[in-house]
Amino acid sequence: MPELPELQAHAERLGDALGGRTLSGFRPMTFTALKTVLPAPDDLVGRTLAGVERIGKYLMLRFGDDRFVIHLMQGGRLEPDAKQSAKPRGGLARWTFDGGSALLLTEMAKEKRAGVWVVAGDPADQPPLEGLGPDALDLTAEALRTALANHKSMRVHGFLRDQRAIAGIGRRLSSEICWRARLSPFTSTHKLTDAEIDRLHGAIDACLDDALNFERGRDTMSSTAERPGSVYKRAGEACPVCGDAIRAVEYNAYTVNYCATCQTGGRILADNTTSKFLK
Ligand SMILES: [Zn+2]
Repeated sequence: MPELPELQAHAERLGDALGGRTLSGFRPMTFTALKTVLPAPDDLVGRTLAGVERIGKYLMLRFGDDRFVIHLMQGGRLEPDAKQSAKPRGGLARWTFDGGSALLLTEMAKEKRAGVWVVAGDPADQPPLEGLGPDALDLTAEALRTALANHKSMRVHGFLRDQRAIAGIGRRLSSEICWRARLSPFTSTHKLTDAEIDRLHGAIDACLDDALNFERGRDTMSSTAERPGSVYKRAGEACPVCGDAIRAVEYNAYTVNYCATCQTGGRILADNTTSKFLK
């Protein structure tokens, strides 16, 4: 799933490509693609694209004070649409602009979960953005401390991925951030020392910076396999810092990767939470 850096760079690319164009139409292509009834998408027709924005893992096309808010989920893509074919593969919605350009939302998954919301005014306190934690980009150390204190205690890896705690980080970056911070992914957030919180903050900044720099150098959004990293999906490879083998804790939906020497004092982590879900 794309995370903050991929979406941020993509918003910048789309803004450069289509900013200032006038919207001539919006067409959902499935019954579930458009998640809102009001305001009607047609209300935004005739307005110019003022900017492509990002909050957390959401992209937003802003027309005046109103926005199309888009979530790509796992396999969604929002790309300029040169062909504009009648039935594009995986097509969910299309925006057309005066002058002939278009944007197409697709999702290559059996179960379509990506979606579009039309939101009037400030989107921060409305669905689907309401309840999101502070954005991880430009998060101050103080804001991280507050977010940690305000949220129930949980494993750091889970906290980083919890969009209500802080917004924008997913499975890949949470493993990378824990490794860079030299913290066990299973450390309880309320047990973090001041020094550990500072390391965590520095690691969030550094990992987002690296990924953003990589992503800004591309023409299109990277696939997961293309993204650089040190630990995520690298089980068995050598840790770039100490040479120990990168390890993995596997869950149904995702994998946590870590280096035992750098992060857990050599202790091998085993999942102890799934058994209760196996009833
Ligand atoms: Zn290591």
